[in-house]
Amino acid sequence: MIALYIFRQCLKLRSAKEMFLMTNLDRRSFLKAARAASVVVAASSSGAVRAFAGDTSTDGPFKLPPLPYAYGALEPNIDAQTMQLHHDKHHAAYVKNLNAALKDHSQLASRPLEELLVKLNDVPEEIRMTVRNNGGGHANHSMFWEIMGPPSGTGPDGELKAAIDKDFGGLDGLQAKFNAAGGKVFGSGWVFVTVDKDGKLALVSKPNQDTPLMEGGRVLMGNDVWEHAYYLKYQNKRAEYLKAWWNVVNWKAVGDRYAAAKAGKLAI
Ligand code: MN
Repeated sequence: MIALYIFRQCLKLRSAKEMFLMTNLDRRSFLKAARAASVVVAASSSGAVRAFAGDTSTDGPFKLPPLPYAYGALEPNIDAQTMQLHHDKHHAAYVKNLNAALKDHSQLASRPLEELLVKLNDVPEEIRMTVRNNGGGHANHSMFWEIMGPPSGTGPDGELKAAIDKDFGGLDGLQAKFNAAGGKVFGSGWVFVTVDKDGKLALVSKPNQDTPLMEGGRVLMGNDVWEHAYYLKYQNKRAEYLKAWWNVVNWKAVGDRYAAAKAGKLAI
């Protein structure tokens, strides 16, 4: 589809004279150029190209954070195409829509995201659901990219490990409860582990793009169980995605978030 679009754009850009010549004499080189364009598109979808920030050109205070690793870095657990679409299209759209909704509300737009989300009642009713969905989506995905990374084979350690042992009976217990909760989300939503200022952990599921931030909570980690997060590779097998996802949890990043939460410095 994208190749076809580029093909058509090439067509539009050609002068009438070139078009005349092409349509009569030069179809072969035109088709060659179109094939080259489709190769570029294929290469950029393969994960071979370093992740870029996607559509960050939207006006407004909220920005799409760059993916901190290549699209293909989480293979084979999460495929490169899913990562590219998820970050560059889905997350980018939440940021764009959030900025657009707050375009004429500069005071609200200047708030930190976590403050905007915990005070949704301050947002005018006509844009409140848009801010809730897209602001929640922006917060959730920003957290999501951060707590994943290339499979490292390591697990939680230090204070984080102690908390998981205490509140979930160990990593196996956390994974079993988390995956069961992920399987039960009806439709689109998220499963989170929340952390309070004393370092206590809890499991919370939310529909849509809602987040514990909306109740003033803090998210240690979470997994996206919207179909767009896994359907290309796993189709209807959400349980397999939930299981494989643990291979790409970046425990160093989760540990850093745990320490930040206890220090009262974890934002989104
Ligand atoms: Mn998502």
